[in-house]
Amino acid sequence: MVNLRDIENARKEIKDVIHQTPLLESELLNAQADRRIFLKAEHLQKTGSFKIRGAVNAVKQAVQKGAKSITAASSGNHGQAVAYIAGRLGIPAVIVVPEDANRAKVAAIEAYGGKVEYCGFTSADRIPRAKKLAEENDGVYIPPYDHPYIIAGQGTVGLEILEQLPDVDLIVVPVGGGGLISGILMAVKESKSNVRVIGVEPESGNDTFLSLEAGKIMAVSGSQSIADGLRTSQPGELTFPILQKNIDGIVLVTEEEIKFAMQFFIERTKQLIEPSAAAAVAAVLTGKAGEPNEKIAVVLSGGNIDLPALRTCLPD
Ligand SMILES: *Cc1c(COP(=O)(O)O)cnc(C)c1O
Repeated sequence: MVNLRDIENARKEIKDVIHQTPLLESELLNAQADRRIFLKAEHLQKTGSFKIRGAVNAVKQAVQKGAKSITAASSGNHGQAVAYIAGRLGIPAVIVVPEDANRAKVAAIEAYGGKVEYCGFTSADRIPRAKKLAEENDGVYIPPYDHPYIIAGQGTVGLEILEQLPDVDLIVVPVGGGGLISGILMAVKESKSNVRVIGVEPESGNDTFLSLEAGKIMAVSGSQSIADGLRTSQPGELTFPILQKNIDGIVLVTEEEIKFAMQFFIERTKQLIEPSAAAAVAAVLTGKAGEPNEKIAVVLSGGNIDLPALRTCLPD
């Protein structure tokens, strides 16, 4: 379903839109974590997160197949990414968001040219609405992770890491629905099967951890983690089998560990990341992921955080 060839094709397809982000190193971070850490800087990516990679790949394919409009059901990074690429291709996009959606996020979607429609409070309300809107307007609904073109697009992060750090030992990836990590797994395991890939979830949103343990998809409800990109209630139908077959483990981090990683990161590296990315940093700072002397790539998945949310991450 998704193989190395699909990811290489995705890379060509998205090349003219996305940034090839740098792999940053911080000596202070290395010293604190007692291992060599390389930061894949997707917080500096177009629209502020890696989500643009999958979105460009999936939206371009939909347009090539004749889609006249695009819909999505996310107030977060996926919604922003879809709005951006649709606007750039000159296709109307409607992004369905919850009634209580964060105003800063809605403003970002609108600034990229997306139209915002409010609907209900859960994804169970929003997804059918977004699908129906697509149906009514010769459009295509673009899901956030459980889609082969999305997975292939996110996998390009893995290809870039292998090129930028050929002797990487371990890649640490935050996990929501699993699109990012399954793409990276497909990119990495097919070409360099000795590179380990570990996922990171907040303790309160440990659906993938529980699912891997149970050997089937398990759901958790109502995660309130500050890592809002990782609150997904369950892994996807497409992503989960890829994880089951290839992943080298899941590490769980607490809210306090995520906040500490945010603070350490801002203070020491002067880089602003969002809590979902800080979860992956927390996994190495606590020593839960990786061994001393290993070369570890940590995916800084995004940098979109509004000031009130940032305030809750800082010490009083
Ligand atoms: C979406 C997102 C994730 C999780 O990605 P999945 O593909 O859902 O696993 C992690 N970090 C950020 C910043 C995100 O926007």
